[in-house]
Amino acid sequence: METDTSLRDICEFNYGELEELLTGEFGEKRFRASQIYDWLHKRKAASFSEMTDISKALREKLSREFRITVMEPVEILTSKRDGTKKYIMRLFDNNVIESVFMRYKHGNSVCISSQVGCRMGCSFCASTIDGLVRNLTAAEMLGQIYAIERDTGERVSNIVVMGSGEPLDNYDELIRFVRMISDERGLNISQRNITVSTCGLASKIRQLADEGLQITLALSLHAPNQEVRERLMPIAKAYRLEDVLSACEYYYEKTKRRLTFEYAVVKGVNDNPGEAKLLSRLIGGMHGHVNLIPVNPVKERSYESPDKKDVYEFQAVLEKNGINATVRREMGRDIDGACGQLRRRYIENAGICTD
Ligand code: SAH
Repeated sequence: METDTSLRDICEFNYGELEELLTGEFGEKRFRASQIYDWLHKRKAASFSEMTDISKALREKLSREFRITVMEPVEILTSKRDGTKKYIMRLFDNNVIESVFMRYKHGNSVCISSQVGCRMGCSFCASTIDGLVRNLTAAEMLGQIYAIERDTGERVSNIVVMGSGEPLDNYDELIRFVRMISDERGLNISQRNITVSTCGLASKIRQLADEGLQITLALSLHAPNQEVRERLMPIAKAYRLEDVLSACEYYYEKTKRRLTFEYAVVKGVNDNPGEAKLLSRLIGGMHGHVNLIPVNPVKERSYESPDKKDVYEFQAVLEKNGINATVRREMGRDIDGACGQLRRRYIENAGICTD
């Protein structure tokens, strides 16, 4: 289907805005908004022509002025081990992003991207290698979940914003997305089942704390001190560790949501028991738990996965110091391409890689 990119995207309108548009500019009755919102955000319509309870005249008028964001999966990898599915989705401007579907006992979880590429520069991450291409719109974040529900025929109950991109670097669209996905007129996914992961933009964490949302904040900590953090994450120079942690504390105070600290374990960089002790001291007084992620080696980078026994020892030290820590279970291990690598491979194979 051809998409006229000059048209406004109707999926970007929240319920109130859609109602205003239809009753104002379009001179329609209020209930039209509810019908159309339902088609877009519950029934996941891909075109106006599907909206059969709307008059043909209105459908035609809408399609002259608006487009509908539909994410098109162009590659889907399915794990034979645990049913995990990794998607490459094409956007209307031919950029591609990746999203992941994971099945857990407590429900289905989707990991979405928030930007095409990323400009944060973390040294172990594939998403940032070519920098930021552009922000995703809220509709494109919603669209990843809609496309996955369409493809799997299953309901999604949990969302983690942990794909490519830095969500707090795309703040307004992220907030719009969270409000729309948790709106009862849409998929109505509980905010408590949404986790946003950030590399630590302290000022934005404080702003997020004041939004009155109930989402979980995950901080990509990755180091027990400023020095190691700077080695792994250039953004650490702009936002010092003490400021980031104090913003996280503020987030807890305002929301009472327990924090998640992500810690990518990198062999020989941040994986020794002394560092686990330092980490315990650093976050000991905070309300949160640690998620240890054995680093996924990226071919463009020289970092190595830690030894399993070192990861478990690291975990044991944290636990001994009273800090709850889990080791992330690797989902879909047989379909590689974690953390932005799938997208890079897709782009390279398509011959549109610029480097
Ligand atoms: N920009 C957000 C979301 C990034 S991706 C953030 O920084 O939190 C989600 C998590 O995966 C982050 O903790 C990120 O640091 C981590 N990650 C990125 N590349 C990785 C890799 N190669 N191995 C393990 N974890 C990685």
